[in-house]
Amino acid sequence: MNRTELIGWLREMDETRLEELWALADEVRRVHVGDEVHLRGLIEISNHCVQRCTYCGINATNREVERYRMTAAEILGSARQARDLGYGTVVMQAGEDYGLTRELIADLVRQIKSETGLAVTLSLGERSDEDFLAWREAGADRYLLRFETSDPELYASIHPSLPGRPSDRFEILRHLRRLGYEIGSGVMLGIPGQTWRILADDLQAFVGLDLDMIGVGPYLPHPATPLGRGELPEAPEGEQVPSSELMTYKVVALTRLLCPRSNIPSTTALATLNLAQGRELGLSRGANVVMPNLTPVQYRALYEIYPGKACIRETANECAACLSGRIHRLDRQVGRGPGSRRLTHMK
Ligand code: SAH
Repeated sequence: MNRTELIGWLREMDETRLEELWALADEVRRVHVGDEVHLRGLIEISNHCVQRCTYCGINATNREVERYRMTAAEILGSARQARDLGYGTVVMQAGEDYGLTRELIADLVRQIKSETGLAVTLSLGERSDEDFLAWREAGADRYLLRFETSDPELYASIHPSLPGRPSDRFEILRHLRRLGYEIGSGVMLGIPGQTWRILADDLQAFVGLDLDMIGVGPYLPHPATPLGRGELPEAPEGEQVPSSELMTYKVVALTRLLCPRSNIPSTTALATLNLAQGRELGLSRGANVVMPNLTPVQYRALYEIYPGKACIRETANECAACLSGRIHRLDRQVGRGPGSRRLTHMK
């Protein structure tokens, strides 16, 4: 699909046409990645962060945030829970926190791999090449780093670079791929300044990067951030992408058509916009992954990247039961094993 065709779909409002898009995305999903829905247990291991992303509630400039860092024992405990709940993967995510040292993460990866055998995904920000290498050698399988937007100017405005440290997330992703990681990326939908053209280019960038995992979700304003306070301008009238539920389904569906074999989560940000139905509708319109939260309840509310996050009070067990119920009601099955794209490829 070229840029014009993509923009046409992104702006489409005709219900019959959209029904066709949902049906096509669902069919492509079924043919290429099957009916299994893979569960990736998410552990938000720290909310400390050195970055100043203008969209993110836990960015370094927000003094209101009570900061926490889980201990190695707590993280291992959550990983064991993932195994006991039958998940294939554990995802360790955090702000960019150098208190999470190279050695600490490498040790954790080794222990989780040897004790649970689960696939290990890391999402710890823009760390050094040495960190990425050490973690890969320790056994980490995948790395998630959303590029957030493919437009350099917009990127610079939402992700001011640190002194002496230019940020090139495309280059980091290519490097991670060379190290043998499966790579995941994605964007937020409806950040102020995001135009239809930029979003169409984002979609094409997914293809160009040959991503294994692609996460997209609505941008949700956090009042304690520059973007949430409205300090950055929207795109001109008619050009600004909305941060809506419908927009998210369109992008999930188009992503499935463009990247038929990729793992695509139905995201928590989407569930936050529609708690009753969002996850299911995402799964019916192209997605094949969900990421149940395993973070101990006492820390969950503190990992507030945006307000009103879904499932903030449920325990890990409650999340597991709720999600497997939702998956079965869709006539789909909970995936077994790591649910790796590279393995699916070889089938
Ligand atoms: N520090 C890591 C993890 C960040 S949280 C990193 O930078 O990669 C994971 C994702 O949540 C981000 O990449 C971003 O796309 C999303 N996110 C952050 N703030 C958000 C907001 N206000 N609304 C919606 N999504 C947000």
